[in-house]
Amino acid sequence: MRQGSRRFLYWLTPFLLLSAGTAASQQQPAKPKPEETEIWQPVPAIVTPGATGAEAPSDAIVLFDGKNLDEWVSAQDHTPAQWNVHDGILTVVKGSGIGNIETKRKFKDYQLHVEWKIPENITGSGQARGNSGVFLASTGPGDDGYELQVLDSYNNATYVNGQAGSIYKQSPPLVNANRKPGEWQAYDVVWTAPRFNDDGSLKTPAYVTVFFNGVLVQNHFALKGQTLYIGQPFYKKYDTAPIKLQAHGDKSEPISYRNIWVREVD
Ligand code: MG
Repeated sequence: MRQGSRRFLYWLTPFLLLSAGTAASQQQPAKPKPEETEIWQPVPAIVTPGATGAEAPSDAIVLFDGKNLDEWVSAQDHTPAQWNVHDGILTVVKGSGIGNIETKRKFKDYQLHVEWKIPENITGSGQARGNSGVFLASTGPGDDGYELQVLDSYNNATYVNGQAGSIYKQSPPLVNANRKPGEWQAYDVVWTAPRFNDDGSLKTPAYVTVFFNGVLVQNHFALKGQTLYIGQPFYKKYDTAPIKLQAHGDKSEPISYRNIWVREVD
């Protein structure tokens, strides 16, 4: 390099450094993407379940017995729930502005039984195939809550922390105990609500144990907070909350529920 050019570079250096610094300070942090919290491996092993179904024990609160939605309201505005009750079952109503439904009652710690069925003629793939969900605590409005995923995962690849039996975006099921579309399946859940200090900070996390068609898929899992579609989970103080069922916005055929009961745990 000639002497003149070197001197010119030397003179230019502070300006180069300054402009590089300005460019760096103007760079926005990357916007979080939903893919960042997806886990795809390892894929849970397939287990063929035994018989499904459990009648409500004598001390259970029956939330749906096949007859009406008296225990449920719209999660949006708490008007009467408008999903379709027919033939002793409850079918999700999607895409009509009706949306999610939740229990009128609020719960803290409980045991929950809920049965659900993917339509035999289900279409779609990934997260858009029979997507619904049981929100174990519906802490809205404006919150994501705590979702036990409902999806057709019989033969349908997706991120494993979003398949049926997962705690959405937090914990894949230990195994895949799905039945075929068209067959009734059951979740039996033990939910221990999170506890908070007076200042809103977390005292103890929420714990969940889930049996899927009688097979253990979540074993006293400590949740990291609400189950978010995008970003890292966090907790927000609540005491008791309704249980919510999801009307997911995907285009696949609506799924059905039946035989829903809960036992409060002191
Ligand atoms: Mg869902």
